[in-house]
Amino acid sequence: MTSPNLSAPDAAGTADGGTLPWRNSFAELGESFFTRLQAQALPDPYWVGRNRAVARELGLQAEWLESQAALEAFTGNRLLPGSDPLASVYSGHQFGVWAGQLGDGRALLLGEIATPGGPQEIQLKGAGRTPYSRMGDGRAVLRSSIREFLCSEAMHGLGIPTTRALCVTGSDAPVRREEIETAAVVTRTAPSFIRFGHFEHFSYSGQHTELKALADYVIDRFYPDCREAPQPYAALLEAVSERTARLMAAWQAVGFCHGVMNTDNMSILGLTIDYGPFQFLDAFDPNHICNHSDTQGRYAYNRQPNMAYWNLFCLGQALLPLIGEQDLALAALEPYKTQFPEAMYARMRTKLGLADEQPEDKALVDDGFKLLAANKVDYSIFWRRLNGFTAQSGHEPVRDLFFDRESFNAWAQDYSRRLSGVDPQQRAALMQKNNPKFVLRNHLGEEAIRAAKLKDFSGVDTLLALLQSPYEEHPGHDSFAGFPPDWASSIEISCSS
Ligand code: AMP
Ligand code: MG
Repeated sequence: MTSPNLSAPDAAGTADGGTLPWRNSFAELGESFFTRLQAQALPDPYWVGRNRAVARELGLQAEWLESQAALEAFTGNRLLPGSDPLASVYSGHQFGVWAGQLGDGRALLLGEIATPGGPQEIQLKGAGRTPYSRMGDGRAVLRSSIREFLCSEAMHGLGIPTTRALCVTGSDAPVRREEIETAAVVTRTAPSFIRFGHFEHFSYSGQHTELKALADYVIDRFYPDCREAPQPYAALLEAVSERTARLMAAWQAVGFCHGVMNTDNMSILGLTIDYGPFQFLDAFDPNHICNHSDTQGRYAYNRQPNMAYWNLFCLGQALLPLIGEQDLALAALEPYKTQFPEAMYARMRTKLGLADEQPEDKALVDDGFKLLAANKVDYSIFWRRLNGFTAQSGHEPVRDLFFDRESFNAWAQDYSRRLSGVDPQQRAALMQKNNPKFVLRNHLGEEAIRAAKLKDFSGVDTLLALLQSPYEEHPGHDSFAGFPPDWASSIEISCSS
């Protein structure tokens, strides 16, 4: 490994592939945490998408990201000097059942680089088999890689904590899924890719020295305040719970379904991670299941906050050897039960344009959800149209979304009443920032993917640009903000990616 160099590159982006200031603090945890290995090359790679915003944040030279050297590096065909690729080991509960050892089956951590915003780890996803691949081929297909690339940036644009993606490269190398597809590699970044499952791994296997080292690493790097607490590990659990509560509120408010909320897909930093069969709701259906393989609906939209709590409970269980007393762990989890609804109603108030809180707001939100569900109203379009709602001018564009006009009128009256005394401009400004015009609906991703399979990547670029600023109007792109076509409901997305 190269010696640590923490000097941050300047914001203009001066680093090329040879001069990145690499470090790998995760690797310093020791060999029980990972296996060092190289990526497996893919033939004749090509660019599928590049995210210049992330490149800038990483301090990468714009010209270098155009180069063949960068293309080869981010496909895993060429080692970036100073990087130290490894696959980490973790375990997890999948669909409520202990699954034992999992690990980075197709992801390689190259290391971390210092940026003005703090260290960012860089991972190649789909770069070949690892000791943790089990039956898998270590690959990711073009379809799912484009979805992860676009959705992580969409979440970032929406202001929701997430891993991000620098680029996607493709290769015509065949990959077998339900049918033969082609390979792709996503280069993704995050301050850390540590999951709840990392803690479960060392706890369940009785490696408590490693468990403590991991917890100390996470506390020192990401939750330094917990160090000051009387019980740092219980404080860590509480802090992770709080971030997770806020994340769930953000998902629910924007109508995002993750689809595979297993404990190995839960970030210790409260980031959205591992984009698979996710979906933004079209018509509002609280019971919506986006993962075709989730036959029981464990991860249905309205169950996500409870499933996150279940996962936090697993994390608490894993941390028990460090926390010591079960009551302390339970007490650390308790605040989630109020933090989630508080964060959720706070988000919903901003969607309604309400800067302050009144006792009747909860009912307004709950009734609104019931109405949207009963009328199967398009979730994003409803909220965006509501920006134009005024008590005086009537609200045809919003009312038109409902077949039960009377119930809508009753709700609109309550809303109008609540708006009396609220400054209309302030309200409009708040709503404009909280009701996105553009979300990554399944059919939009699908259209970009179909074109990309024919080597036309312009759809990926267009979507990326729209999703990076989803609250803006983007004149000329209204077709990306419309109702889904009929065929959208027939798109089936499973875990197989
Ligand atoms: P996921 O539910 O997609 O997050 O994956 C669960 C586990 O399966 C993780 O350990 C992944 O690394 C692993 N995995 C998923 N797909 C593959 C693949 N194609 N090859 C190897 N491992 C995989
Ligand atoms: Mg995963």
